[in-house]
Amino acid sequence: QNARESLYIVSEFAAGFFANELWTGDQGRAIGLSYFKERGFREDIVKKFQLGYSPDVWDALIQNAISAGHKEEYLEKTGLAIRNDKGKLYDRFRGRVMFPIHNFTGRIIGFGGRTLKTDKNVPKYVNSPESDIYHKSNVLYGLFHAKKAIRDTDNCYLVEGYADVLAAHQAGIENVVASSGTSLTTEQIRLIGRFTENVTILYDGDAAGIKASLRGLDMILEEGLNVKVVSFPDGHDPDSYMHHVGSGEFKKYIENNRKDFILYKANILLKEAGTDPIKRAGIIRDIVESIAKIPDDIKASIFIKECSSLLQVEERILLSELNKIRMAKF
Ligand code: ATP
Ligand code: MN
Ligand code: MN
Ligand code: MN
Repeated sequence: QNARESLYIVSEFAAGFFANELWTGDQGRAIGLSYFKERGFREDIVKKFQLGYSPDVWDALIQNAISAGHKEEYLEKTGLAIRNDKGKLYDRFRGRVMFPIHNFTGRIIGFGGRTLKTDKNVPKYVNSPESDIYHKSNVLYGLFHAKKAIRDTDNCYLVEGYADVLAAHQAGIENVVASSGTSLTTEQIRLIGRFTENVTILYDGDAAGIKASLRGLDMILEEGLNVKVVSFPDGHDPDSYMHHVGSGEFKKYIENNRKDFILYKANILLKEAGTDPIKRAGIIRDIVESIAKIPDDIKASIFIKECSSLLQVEERILLSELNKIRMAKF
């Protein structure tokens, strides 16, 4: 048995421990399970994603793992346990609801833990550190539970957080992944590209979410994938919106509010620019910058046409702008 295998095994054990605490522990049931219930998550979703609870003590997992025969070394190497200055081990995750993170073959490689406190000084989420089995820039939360649906629907919804993945599943949308714990990476986009060429961004309807969506769509275009965006009313993310309108309405909303990236980007930029003609010229350049990222010339020319009619700018002007940008890249 090699060292990586030992890390998988202790992670699997930890997920089992956290789930058992959630469903049978006094603290877990009273605090963790009722938290998921209050947020409106169904039991089948909590079970499907093997959610759990880490008791609010210093060494609940460590004690259990050691008595079950697991070695300190592997608890430490997965980051489940941390060694203090005095050489004593303590649990990384304490008093949090736990989201196991699976690789796309379904093995548990890390965890996200959400605090139940409202104290602003406590980080909302704590994630496993990088380890020999967990490289966060290569992982998409939910991919294992999504990959079949992504292939079947030939589309992948991309959300920001763990709760958004759960909410989508609860609404019957299974082709959904999150780039949790990191901003979207090229590796993650390539991972999606193994299953589909079509990505739909569903980020939070706040300033940070909009900013991340503009960055994300350029990266997705650069990898040669098609990208659409659904935006949510300010203050809502897919999770809150699903619980706000209900699962049926949520599904309809997503289907009816999918915008292709040009329309999405133009709407955002036009709102910012108002009537200022110089700013509006800047928008045109900005959108052509995105089109210039598309590796396929035929696809790019289709979007130039769309941009031309949307912004009422002659196609040849856009094309010369496109060429300028492309030449500058050499
Ligand atoms: P919730 O619905 O549980 O309040 P969220 O997913 O809506 O959480 P956001 O603040 O929108 O939370 O953050 C999106 C994602 O970013 C989270 O799901 C988590 O993966 C990650 N994240 C948020 N806060 C932190 C943090 N303090 N440290 C590390 N990752 C974080
Ligand atoms: Mn947010
Ligand atoms: Mn959010
Ligand atoms: Mn949320």
